[in-house]
Amino acid sequence: MCREAINFPELMSFNDYGGSYDDYEDALLEVYNADLWNSNLQFAGLNVKPRVHKRFELNGKFLDWTFAHFTSKGPIDEDRELDLSRCERIGYVKLIIENAHLDCVKVYENTRFDRNGSPIISVVLWCECANAKIVLTKIQKEWGEYYVITTFYLVNSAIKINSHNKEYVDYVAANGEFQL
Ligand SMILES: [Zn+2]
Repeated sequence: MCREAINFPELMSFNDYGGSYDDYEDALLEVYNADLWNSNLQFAGLNVKPRVHKRFELNGKFLDWTFAHFTSKGPIDEDRELDLSRCERIGYVKLIIENAHLDCVKVYENTRFDRNGSPIISVVLWCECANAKIVLTKIQKEWGEYYVITTFYLVNSAIKINSHNKEYVDYVAANGEFQL
């Protein structure tokens, strides 16, 4: 399917942690922090960080909001339900961003509108081999620009896979390849 596929690591399976959710979460956090906070990750020449470095207490632990969002389904609250398929692939986020130049990753812009009708331009990194989608949003400050990782989730249905491929083809037809 792609000429240069990404060499993804083995899935981080909950079953490998002796049934201990605490140990599993600690291992996921270690990857998340090493990959996304402490790795000097870059995209298109700009730094990349998780969206909000907001920490909150959940079941006696202090978690990063983005970490909680990446690893669960539904609202982030005391009853947060783990999304194991995303947890297992926590290490994919950095790899996909780092390998955005390979044909394994389809990169295109996507414009949403906020409540005031102002455009919010995001960059989609869509990797069909991993069924994984990452959305980056560029933040502009007086001192410079950087990207935040807005979301990471899996796209599994054939209809959604096709629509992502089509969005990419349409984007490239109108704009050319995204300049990395
Ligand atoms: Zn691929």
